[in-house]
Amino acid sequence: MRWKEQLLTLTPYQPGKTIGEVKRQYGLKEITKLASNENPFGCSKKVKEVLMNAGDFEKYPDGYATDIRSDLAEFLHVNPNQLIFGCGSDEIISMISRALLDPKYNTVMASPTFSQYKHNAIIDGAGEIREIPLINGEHDLDKMLDAIDDRTNVVWLCSPNNPTGTYIPEERLISFLNKVPKTTLVVLDEAYYEYVVADDYYNSIDLIDVFENLIVLRTFSKIYGLASFRVGYGVSNPEVILSLEPARGPFNTNTLGQMVAAQAIKDQDFVEFCRKTNREGLQQFYDFCEENGLKYYPSQANFILIDFNRQGNEVFQYLLERGYIVRSGNALGFPTAVRITVGSKEQNDGLLNMLKEYLSHIKALS
Ligand SMILES: *Cc1c(COP(=O)(O)O)cnc(C)c1O
Repeated sequence: MRWKEQLLTLTPYQPGKTIGEVKRQYGLKEITKLASNENPFGCSKKVKEVLMNAGDFEKYPDGYATDIRSDLAEFLHVNPNQLIFGCGSDEIISMISRALLDPKYNTVMASPTFSQYKHNAIIDGAGEIREIPLINGEHDLDKMLDAIDDRTNVVWLCSPNNPTGTYIPEERLISFLNKVPKTTLVVLDEAYYEYVVADDYYNSIDLIDVFENLIVLRTFSKIYGLASFRVGYGVSNPEVILSLEPARGPFNTNTLGQMVAAQAIKDQDFVEFCRKTNREGLQQFYDFCEENGLKYYPSQANFILIDFNRQGNEVFQYLLERGYIVRSGNALGFPTAVRITVGSKEQNDGLLNMLKEYLSHIKALS
């Protein structure tokens, strides 16, 4: 077989150790996983009610996702034909890449940012991948603009950015959108949108009416706490959605996922609770960083990237052996940092105690 050459340069996604494996390996009873930006509060209780009534498992799902489509359209104040659903927003990223990238075209993105933009662009054989370094954890929109030319088919923005948690303020986003050529699709990945509290954040959906080349991606995996169901969506103008549709698998979201997502948007109290509690949790981490002189990026998401000035893998390993799974910055483009998902108050306290121990441990060594 003659595999695409570019596949040889890629490694498959490395899932972390499972909770069971970590328990066995280190003889631990309890494990707290704060590595994948999952919701520590689970999901809305109302979701469980619909699952009790689920059935028709032998039937294919509704390929058009009619019910969730109309509920979500109403919730977002858009038309149903402005939505596309994916098996997670991950799949929409890959649809966009498939539909627009090949050797004739280049793509522009920040670096470090969410790994899937580049991963897909490589598989699809994009002519060039132009990665523009973040400044202070934030997108350098001026340099990104400079990198765009008439062969740029997709530019990826991630706000709040994973793994830094920083966001693109309104004024800068709009000035950027005004300058990007209309032949370039701007993808605004807002997986953490519902966590944002910054005053100068925007309802990006409103911008879709103004900028015909904008698509906004959101997901039910993060604040809604439904990652296992794999439902994400894109919002754009009907022409973009229509062009993208052939790149979508016919039954790419499943029946249960469609059901729970529709139910989840009805419980905005839960979303509000998570947003508020997340801010309190972030404050615990900020206080810890200030007390210990550690550099961090102020976050609008449900995670924080902390620079320990040591190998991220070392911090990761220390925590792992004590029952806390976080994400080492090594694989995220920040080798001396770790990315920690904000948990419940108790989880954060527990983790921060371990980090205090770690800091005194390395102090004692030096
Ligand atoms: C988690 C995440 C996604 C993917 O979420 P899905 O579970 O595939 O919906 C997309 N973009 C960013 C930046 C993320 O952090």
